Amino acid sequence: MLKDTFNRTHDYLRISLTDACNFRCVYCMPNEQMKFMPAKHLMQANEIESIVKTLVDLGVKKIRLTGGEPLVRKDAKDIIERISKFPVELTLTTNAALVDDFIEVFHQAGIRSVNVSLDTLKRDKFLELTKRDLFDKVWKNIQLLIEEGFHLKVNVVVMKGINDNEILDFIEWTKNQPVHVRFIEFMPFDKNQWNSSKVFSFQEVLNLIETQYSYIKIKDEANATAKKYKPLNHEGTFAVISTMSAPFCHNCNRMRLTADGKMKNCLFSKGEADILSVLRNQEDITPIIKKCVGQKEKALGGQFEGDFHQIDTNKIDNRSMIRIGG
Ligand code: SAM
Ligand code: SF4
Repeated sequence: MLKDTFNRTHDYLRISLTDACNFRCVYCMPNEQMKFMPAKHLMQANEIESIVKTLVDLGVKKIRLTGGEPLVRKDAKDIIERISKFPVELTLTTNAALVDDFIEVFHQAGIRSVNVSLDTLKRDKFLELTKRDLFDKVWKNIQLLIEEGFHLKVNVVVMKGINDNEILDFIEWTKNQPVHVRFIEFMPFDKNQWNSSKVFSFQEVLNLIETQYSYIKIKDEANATAKKYKPLNHEGTFAVISTMSAPFCHNCNRMRLTADGKMKNCLFSKGEADILSVLRNQEDITPIIKKCVGQKEKALGGQFEGDFHQIDTNKIDNRSMIRIGG
């Protein structure tokens, strides 16, 4: 079992399959001409399988595939199949543009729940935010996931003055469809033009929704990052991921593996453990994994704490979100 010095058990692994993406979301990718990692730096399918085996032996029970966009990887199907052989709950986060090519793969792999990122319900704004005119395709694929019976969570990064005026439209969507919308507070990463005035906070989300809807608090999952609510008489639910205004580090169970095989014990950790090099040297990766988890800071990678308005982004030492794997 992987425990850190704060007695938190780590049994949830997020694996980034690639830092490449078919979208260019402004808050995620530092610039449109970003150079993606060369293929030889990426973990190969058999290497991912081998690292997963060790981590499952160390107690990992849940794995989320992410990126960049996990489904742009040519061997995504092979990787999904390999990981599905392990006794873990397998899931993924995707922008949904390629989902229609993968429905059968997901079913075969026993994937039951999928997180899709969608920050706007308007075609024009979608193009503005992602730099891709693919709203209709994404919407169709979301409907396909619902028809196919997947539990569908929709991630919305809320940015003040950009899409906060659509929060109520997202809630309206939950009325007749079983979608679980998660409003995510905008987080600072390398060169993503974050500033605190763009954060639309957890409390602001609730205050706004209260003006139009009655809702009840529902039980959060163990180790959940999201605080969940159900609007009365709606099929779906909503939740808020309050990383900035009310972090949830006290019961964190997550570790991350970047596409180039570095382990991060926190989304905001400065340090990284080079698991892939150790594996390629044909050495045991267990000690480096344990050391990495053991070095986990109490909260937010030790990079900031307290009032998020006081954060100095120049002092944050981290990769961009697309290179970490969200
Ligand atoms: N391409 C996939 C997607 O968009 O779902 C997976 C990778 S993406 C990096 C994972 C999640 O991180 C997405 O839901 C995205 O909205 C979120 N994300 C990216 N940058 C963020 C930021 N600065 N603050 C909060 N969430 C962010
Ligand atoms: Fe790509 Fe996802 Fe980042 Fe958007 S949020 S640029 S879809 S990785």
